[in-house]
Amino acid sequence: MSARPRIGVLGGTFDPPHVGHLALARAARAALGLDALRLIPTGASWQKSGVVASAAQRAAMLQAGFAGEPGMMVDTRELARVGPSYTIDTLAELRAELGTEAALILVLGSDQLRNLATWHRWESLIGFAHLACTQRERVPLSGLPEPVERLVQAHGAQRLADAPAGSIVFFSMPPVPVSSTALRAALARGEDPAELVAPAVLHYIRQHHLYRGCAPASD
Ligand code: ATP
Repeated sequence: MSARPRIGVLGGTFDPPHVGHLALARAARAALGLDALRLIPTGASWQKSGVVASAAQRAAMLQAGFAGEPGMMVDTRELARVGPSYTIDTLAELRAELGTEAALILVLGSDQLRNLATWHRWESLIGFAHLACTQRERVPLSGLPEPVERLVQAHGAQRLADAPAGSIVFFSMPPVPVSSTALRAALARGEDPAELVAPAVLHYIRQHHLYRGCAPASD
């Protein structure tokens, strides 16, 4: 077993955070033997328009939702960044801070993996971190877009390489059929989606009157 610290990175809009994010974070930490997992809310998301909650509110909801989770911390570095929020910049910053030895592991649901070739400097990500991917309910890991499939062919491994970066691994998690989009829609319909969201996050949403006026989206 390597003594190299393993630092996971889980980025997302978290608008709002839900039980799928929590299940993903827990599964990743256990399956990958992470020493720490950084939850990084995106600042100005360049791929998603229509983010409803403010950056500060999304960070506060993440804090509330993950409070007491061992080894997990909310990292708000992207929120302070001016201009679009690129994962490659975040990984470069973390690499500079954590040094050359630590293993950085970027955790991705299958929707994000499928989309990877649209990310800024996506082919350079593997130079900064390992990629650890899992199936998100109903979004297959098979039949990946060709450029992503080529990346997986080149870097896929049974387990994380004993290296700071460079391998792609897959881990499993129980399917959790929820998305922030569906949760926002349920809240906009005036429902009480207590099974989809941590009680502390729901409390924050109610207290700040969030998501009441969103147009219900189908998801
Ligand atoms: P939205 O519906 O607003 O697009 P989302 O539910 O997809 O949001 P994000 O904050 O964009 O949530 O997701 C952050 C990360 O969490 C991504 O890697 C995504 O694949 C993963 N993720 C989100 N929901 C689930 C889920 N139910 N199961 C597994 N992974 C998930």
